[in-house]
Amino acid sequence: MKITDVKSYNLRYPLIEPFANARGWTKTRTAVVVEIRTDAGITGWGEGISVPSTSAIETYLIGHSPFETERIWEALRGNIGASSGVDIALWDIMGKALDMPIYQLLGGAFRLKIPAYASGLFKKEKQDITQALMDEAKGYVDAGFPAVKMKIGFGDAYDVKNVAAVRRAIGDNTLFAVDANCGYDVGTAIDVGQQLADYGLFWYEEPITTDDVAGYREIRHALKVRVAGGEMLQGRWAFRDLLQQRGVDIVQPDVSIAGGFTECRKIAAMASANYVRVLPHMWGSSIRLAATLHWQATLPDAPQALKPIPSLLEFDMTENGLRTELAKQPIHAVDGYVNVPQAPGLGIDINRDVLEKYA
Ligand SMILES: [Mg+2]
Repeated sequence: MKITDVKSYNLRYPLIEPFANARGWTKTRTAVVVEIRTDAGITGWGEGISVPSTSAIETYLIGHSPFETERIWEALRGNIGASSGVDIALWDIMGKALDMPIYQLLGGAFRLKIPAYASGLFKKEKQDITQALMDEAKGYVDAGFPAVKMKIGFGDAYDVKNVAAVRRAIGDNTLFAVDANCGYDVGTAIDVGQQLADYGLFWYEEPITTDDVAGYREIRHALKVRVAGGEMLQGRWAFRDLLQQRGVDIVQPDVSIAGGFTECRKIAAMASANYVRVLPHMWGSSIRLAATLHWQATLPDAPQALKPIPSLLEFDMTENGLRTELAKQPIHAVDGYVNVPQAPGLGIDINRDVLEKYA
C-alpha cells in the first residue's frame, strides 16, 4: 500500500460565548486536520497544530507505505505540529487496513471505558461569575463526572473565592483540579497554592511556564498538591528535563501537539522510567478526542494497585462544533465515563459536510 495524496484543512469554529483562561480570551476554536489517501482506497484522518509543507509531502509521504511510521516521523521532525497530525492519520490507515482499532495496534487496552473529568469552569463575562461557576460545576457532578477542572490564574482574590465556592458546590467526593495556564511566576504560584491548600485539590496544572523546570521543582517542594504540566511540549526532548528532574507529578502530553502516537509512546515510556504519571491533555476536534481515547486506553495504571489513582480523560465541556459535529458518531460521556471507539483505526467517520462548513 502506498500513500497517494495528503490534504490539510484549517478549521475554524466561532464561539457563541467567548471565555478566558489566565492567558487571554478565546473567541474561536481551531483545528488543523490532515487527510491521507492511499492506493488501497483507505483514507486516514489526523489532527495536528500545523500544516505539513508541500516539499515534505512530496519527498517523504507520497509513494511511501503508511506503515513506515517511525521513518516518516523522523523525516518530519522539524515540524512536530504537522508530524502529529500525519502520524495520527497513518495509524488510522494502519488500523483500517488491519481491521483493528488503534488501541490494539498500540499493544492493547487496559480500559475500554475511561473515567472522565469535566474540563470547563472558565472565566466568562457573567455578572455573577461565582454563582455561574457553582451552577456549572454542580451540573457536572449531577451528570456523573467523578472529577472537574477549573481555570485559575486570575489573581489570588478571584482564585481563592471561586475555588472555595466550586468546592462547596461539588462536595467533598468529587476530584477537583485547577489550571493556571502558565499565568503565574514562581512566587505567585506558591502563594496562591498555599491559599488553596484547604480545598483538597487533586492537581495544580501549569502554575508557571513549562520551560522553567527549576521553577516547577520549587513549586513542587513548597506545596503538598500534585503539580501537572506539559500540554504544549513537542517531542521527547522537550519532556526530558521536566521528567528526569521531576518537575511534575503528572505530565500531560497532547497527542496532536507532542508528536502523534509514535512520539507519545516514547514520552510515556520516559515518564514511566521516571515514575511520573501520564494524563493526556485533550483540547481539539473529534479526531484528537478519538486519538486521545485510543492512546489513554493503553497507558497502564502506575503504580498497579487494588484501587489505582484513576486515569482520567480530559473531557472538554466547552462549546466546539469541531468536537461535537465533525465525527458522524459523536463521543459522549455517560455517567462520567467515555467509551473507547471500537471500529477500525480511530473508529470514527468524518462528516465531509461539516469539514467543508468549518474549513
Ligand atoms: Mg491545561
